[in-house]
Amino acid sequence: MVDSSLVERARELHGHICPFVVLGLRASEIAMKRLGIEKAGEAETVGEEILAIVECNNCFADGVQVATGCTLGNNSLIYLDLGKNAVTLVKRGNWRGIRVYVDFDRLRSLYFSEDALKLFEKVVVKREGTREDQERLGKLWTEIGLSLASAPEDLFKVEEVRVAEIERAPIFESVRCEGCGELAMATRVREVDGKRLCLGCVGECEAVVGRGIVSSFKVPLSRGGRP
Ligand SMILES: [Zn+2]
Ligand SMILES: [Zn+2]
Repeated sequence: MVDSSLVERARELHGHICPFVVLGLRASEIAMKRLGIEKAGEAETVGEEILAIVECNNCFADGVQVATGCTLGNNSLIYLDLGKNAVTLVKRGNWRGIRVYVDFDRLRSLYFSEDALKLFEKVVVKREGTREDQERLGKLWTEIGLSLASAPEDLFKVEEVRVAEIERAPIFESVRCEGCGELAMATRVREVDGKRLCLGCVGECEAVVGRGIVSSFKVPLSRGGRP
């Protein structure tokens, strides 16, 4: 059961309480317990000793980061763009992990009222909700999220997995771009017409956006204009 202080920390990071941020907390908690580990602290995050491998980039992923301490910035969060609500926790060294998968169909009738689902469809999917609808959905979603904090373990698919070794984040030298004059990681610099240019100047890069990882994403920044 996820305790309320952890839920509050999730609210701080994620901005709101919703079903999937809490499921991220709960799934992480189940995996951590099975693996016999606590939230990653200084030693674990500096050495990337514990990895959380998430398979989605939605609310669930924020729950995982809060509960496990494995984040995008400390390179202990690995993002597989599989579009599933699942997390695998693994310790470097033995590479035996615990994967916890959330199946929405198993939770739907137990936790989600028809009313809440219809409202979600209207407000979030179709973007047709009024302000009142939005507020009502926020309330319902928070309530459902809070009730999921004690979701029993047998509602989740929990399995032991072997994880192929994942490299620690390498340190690359920085190269100064001949277009903008800024430093960029050497692996993100291309030679174009004899000039070394950062991908910002080239104009395309890979990006994580709402739909997942997008390659050849047009860099959406332009200079000038007023803030
Ligand atoms: Zn959310
Ligand atoms: Zn540049």
